[in-house]
Amino acid sequence: MKQNIHPSYKEVTVTCSCGNSFVTKSTLAKDTLNIEVCSLCHPFYSGKQRLVDSAGRVDKFRQKFGSGMFGKKTTK
Ligand SMILES: [Zn+2]
Repeated sequence: MKQNIHPSYKEVTVTCSCGNSFVTKSTLAKDTLNIEVCSLCHPFYSGKQRLVDSAGRVDKFRQKFGSGMFGKKTTK
C-alpha cells in the first residue's frame, strides 16, 4: 500500500438503540458509533413486525397524510 494516503482503519464499538453492541472495523474518526437499528432488532432480520420509530416520525407522517398510503402496492 502507498504510505500516507489511506485513512486509519481501526476497530469501533457500535451501539444500537436496542441495547445491542458489537465491534467492527471502520475508518471512522471516532471510537464509538451509535445507531438506531441493527441486525438484531431490524424486522428484516428478526422476522418480527416491530416498528422502530423512536422519534415518532411515522406517526407524524400518518397524521399528515393518513395511513392509506401504507400497505398498498401500486401496480403499473
Ligand atoms: Zn438493534
